[in-house]
Amino acid sequence: MLGPGADADVAIVGGIHGDEPSGVRAVRRVIESNPSFQRPVKLVIANPPAVASHRRYLDVDMNRVFPGDPASPDQERRLAAATLKEINDCSVVLSLHSTHSYDDPIALVSRSNPPVQGLAARLPVSHIVDPTPCFDGAFPACAPVVSVEAGRQLTEEATENATDIVAAFLRLTDALPGEVPTTDSTYYTVTDAVSKQPDTDYELQIENFEVVEPGTTVARSEDREYVADDAFVPILMSETGYDDILGYKGETAGTSLSSARATWGVPPRSSD
Ligand SMILES: [Zn+2]
Repeated sequence: MLGPGADADVAIVGGIHGDEPSGVRAVRRVIESNPSFQRPVKLVIANPPAVASHRRYLDVDMNRVFPGDPASPDQERRLAAATLKEINDCSVVLSLHSTHSYDDPIALVSRSNPPVQGLAARLPVSHIVDPTPCFDGAFPACAPVVSVEAGRQLTEEATENATDIVAAFLRLTDALPGEVPTTDSTYYTVTDAVSKQPDTDYELQIENFEVVEPGTTVARSEDREYVADDAFVPILMSETGYDDILGYKGETAGTSLSSARATWGVPPRSSD
């Protein structure tokens, strides 16, 4: 816990994936700068055993098993339940990740959580994604969470981006004083996961967030070429990021929060 008081309404969660240290490092940097907190903030390391062993997970991918189960034999299912319990009283939570797919920060927010969409829109993040159709079991699917992919895993840039995002999040929630400059963002909807064959090496031929036209070669493996049937926007696509998928297909939802909400079927809100 940081700041005055005992009942934190705001939380920052790092270490859901133990091989993504930028979130934990970013939180440490903000604390070491010794800022004067105006309200209590809860800090949660979600998967300490995975963080200690620098592995994505030990039993199961924690970000696929929310809400978890306190009685499960799988460590991550128990820790997912424990994490949700920790943030049960919080109205807004920042969850920090990093990726194999993209240098710049990406925010993930559920279309069913309008208040956190407003917060995501004000973070220094230029790509904001609703992953709803493909993120069963993810943390943002079952709590008021903005999940941020801060940059490429294990890079100093990811830690710097995460530090900026933590500082902006603390200002936007009035935990720290100060203004946050506006960032222009584009909003996306995930439509599909792109599966991959086990034990196959892929070379991606496309760039994330750059529209792929039909007929474009998306990826090559040793014996095959994968060509797009339909236009899509690649999201979180990488050669090594996931065991079973290359990443996601999506489409643009809007270039402002209000146009994205119209696409997502979220009624306009006056409060953000
Ligand atoms: Zn992650």
